[in-house]
Amino acid sequence: MGIGLPQDNRLMVRSVLDPLRRNLGLRLNLWYAVLFTVCSAALFLLLYLLLTHALEVKEREVLEAQLQRYATVYQAGGVSALRRALFREDATPREKPFFVRLLSPRNTVLVVLAPEEWLTFEDVEPGWDGYRRQVGVLRIPKDEEKDFALASLVFPDGTLLQVGRSASKRAMLLDPFRRTFLGAFAVIVVLGFAAGALFVNRAMLPVRQIIGTARSIIATGRLEARVPLRPRRDELDDLAGLFNTLLDRNQALIRGMREALDNVAHDLRTPLARLRGAAEQALRNAGDPAAAQAALADCVEESDRVLSMLNTLMDISEAEAGTLRLQRRSTDLDRLLAEVIEVYAVVAEEKRVALRHDSPGPVEAVVDETRMRQVLGNLLDNAIKYTDPGGQVTAGVKVEGGQAVVQVRDTGQGIPAGDIDRIWTRLFRGDRSRSQRGLGLGLSLVKAVVEAHGGTVGVTSRPGIGSEFTVRVPRTQTG
Ligand code: ADP
Repeated sequence: MGIGLPQDNRLMVRSVLDPLRRNLGLRLNLWYAVLFTVCSAALFLLLYLLLTHALEVKEREVLEAQLQRYATVYQAGGVSALRRALFREDATPREKPFFVRLLSPRNTVLVVLAPEEWLTFEDVEPGWDGYRRQVGVLRIPKDEEKDFALASLVFPDGTLLQVGRSASKRAMLLDPFRRTFLGAFAVIVVLGFAAGALFVNRAMLPVRQIIGTARSIIATGRLEARVPLRPRRDELDDLAGLFNTLLDRNQALIRGMREALDNVAHDLRTPLARLRGAAEQALRNAGDPAAAQAALADCVEESDRVLSMLNTLMDISEAEAGTLRLQRRSTDLDRLLAEVIEVYAVVAEEKRVALRHDSPGPVEAVVDETRMRQVLGNLLDNAIKYTDPGGQVTAGVKVEGGQAVVQVRDTGQGIPAGDIDRIWTRLFRGDRSRSQRGLGLGLSLVKAVVEAHGGTVGVTSRPGIGSEFTVRVPRTQTG
């Protein structure tokens, strides 16, 4: 078909151009090579033109000096003197003799000396008026191989003196230059292209490595792959470094999410199994209303536990995402602490743990009272929970550097060094805490709520001696 071929051609051109379009390195190299070639060609051309011009100027000077010399001879001694001078010079063979001709005002040849190469030169017609008007040097490139230059002078009596020389000497000089220039140009272009390919290839290495790493993660799902970093630090190395940091963060996030999901599933299994057991018992005891009621009461208790866990998890997520609505108003944290201590006084007493309040007087801060109550409650609850009978828990508030600082200190079991960074993670529970009641969400909530207030939490702990939790919140609302 008629249109089949052009379409095929277009496809072929596209398949050739496609890799070029997709390969930035190759494209950069080609652009660089083209630019380099054009610049070198321009430089060589400029050099060549300058050289040609310099030779031309020199030639013109020589010609005009010779014309002047013969003119002086003619003016001093007339035609015979000129003839004598010419033929004397001609007898001593010279490398490139001049063409000399003297014409009368009527254009009859008075004297002529024509070197061999000028014999074929037909253009210097004595009758042609142009030569008479000629001043300076005239180039006559009549012959393709030969190139003549002619200088003329008209004397006041109308006599015309012409001095010419073939320019083959100039060509002889320029020819080897042209050849050398072309050779050097070819070598420079090839070298330029090769060096460009090398540089571009090296410069694009981090980009290729980033692509390779991304591809391997997509293909294998292995999140550990990283771009190898070079000690040099240019923008592409920075990009590779940032790419690795991004991968680190993603990996940590995904690992955290997986762990949290595993933990939630694991922690939900026990209360749900108990819930199911209680429900089964209620069904079995349908005939005994008292037993059925007790089983249903267990069901409610277990569902409350699950609900509280889910609610706390959602609160933490919201606080971390910054979507937790805080009702902030000026609150006396010392009074708040006193209230919470009062709530926990019974628990402490039952466990024979001394609970003390270090009160310096009111400490105002703009906080969400309910959420801060949760923070203080969790810290006190933990302190009492993880302190053996006979121990002591001290809590106090103070002002330090424009911040309200809450400290809860206990003389309890302390936190092993290996756990200290993990206690803030959701659902983490220390090995020795498993016997205690708890969901492993208390400290995660504390951290999330305090950070939502723009504050920080920290802990120092010595196993066997005790722990001290410190909460710092700005006293005024910032941001
Ligand atoms: P939970 O108390 O429900 O286990 P938390 O998030 O409140 O969960 O605490 C996480 C872990 O931190 C606890 O399991 C415990 O190992 C450790 N921990 C918290 N507070 C204290 C404390 N005052 N003394 C010793 N260990 C503590």
